[in-house]
Amino acid sequence: MISGKLDIIWNISLVCPWNCQFCCTDAAYVRQTGTSIIIREFGLGQQRNLDIHDINYSEPALRKLIEIGIKPNVFDIALQDRQSRGLELTYEQKIKLINNILPLSAEIDFSGGDPLACYENFLVMQEAKKYLAEKI
Ligand code: SF4
Repeated sequence: MISGKLDIIWNISLVCPWNCQFCCTDAAYVRQTGTSIIIREFGLGQQRNLDIHDINYSEPALRKLIEIGIKPNVFDIALQDRQSRGLELTYEQKIKLINNILPLSAEIDFSGGDPLACYENFLVMQEAKKYLAEKI
């Protein structure tokens, strides 16, 4: 049983377009060079290259965006790649977390990575906003 108020800082994704030397969150640095999407992760010690011609846009996480009129960007693609390897929560897991945590006396600050680099996270924040509206 949880009592009292919870203040949660949630690193909703480690995907990040920046490459700060002082990063303390083990962010996954993502950028595009030519036809390659480069993901540097695990303390920037490992690099993964995705060819943009090999992206499978029928993967559920990318298809979901396309269905609502959003063209997936390199960060959306990197997130999907990391989700497929079990390194990030899926959209469904994030929504489940929101629906389990926010009915409690809890508040969430979204952090990252860059919490707004991937459109999916914006959708999760919209879900969280429903609870905020109920509290006002
Ligand atoms: S998570 Fe923050 S500190 Fe780390 S690289 Fe991204 S913007 Fe910089």
